[in-house]
Amino acid sequence: MQKKITLQGFLYDEKSSYLSGPALAPPLIRKAYHSDSANYFAENGLEIPPEIWNDKGDFEIKEYFEIEKITSKNIANGKPLITLGGDHSITYPLLKAHHKKYGPIDILHIDAHADLYDNFEGDKFSHACPFARIMDDKLANRLVQIGIRTLSKHQKEQADKFGVEIIQMKDFSLLQLPKFENPLYLSLDIDGLDPAFAPGVSHHEPGGLSTREVISIIQSINVPVLGADIVEYNPTRDINDMTAMLSAKLLKEIAAKILQTERPEL
Ligand code: MN
Ligand code: MN
Repeated sequence: MQKKITLQGFLYDEKSSYLSGPALAPPLIRKAYHSDSANYFAENGLEIPPEIWNDKGDFEIKEYFEIEKITSKNIANGKPLITLGGDHSITYPLLKAHHKKYGPIDILHIDAHADLYDNFEGDKFSHACPFARIMDDKLANRLVQIGIRTLSKHQKEQADKFGVEIIQMKDFSLLQLPKFENPLYLSLDIDGLDPAFAPGVSHHEPGGLSTREVISIIQSINVPVLGADIVEYNPTRDINDMTAMLSAKLLKEIAAKILQTERPEL
């Protein structure tokens, strides 16, 4: 079987503002993906077996911007990439690498938080800031955020300044999902889900998306997906590995969407 999707993980949570733990996530998501309790099929009928991955492994990072260098190397072959985090700060260097390879792309960002702080506690690269850096650097054509339920005045101003399209949780409906026209990058912060579905996150923010809703959002994507990340799973807060299994399920669903919508040249 052809290795169709590149996989990498970052054992990194230095930019977490509240708790550490996401650095432990990548090997545990991999373990859950291989668990005998499930199979390798996604809901669209496509199988996502281990042979499908061009697996680059999990990286320990000393310097934040190593993430960009490693990612650039790993996407040089032009295959779609899924990254396992790690805290959400990794998405800025991930997008820098994607921008160098593909130019500006559309981003769909699922999260409880807008992550648009100009800086957070003095750090411009905090996990609360990646989408401010991405928009400052004009790395995206379009940024659509879903699941947001913590919008502060500052972040609302940032969203207005950058033209971010925010579908706040209070307004969310599966009947009104965004439609995209360009290739997409999907950034999935696991705390976008309700803590009832995803207890293994640092920031429990009640009132979030259900697992079913997140799967429906992924399945609704109608354009090629060039890259995706699954971030902020914090194993130290998990219960019976349920958030690990959730992350592995979403990994399979994203991979199946990539295969279903892949560009002919890939
Ligand atoms: Mn986030
Ligand atoms: Mn979040």
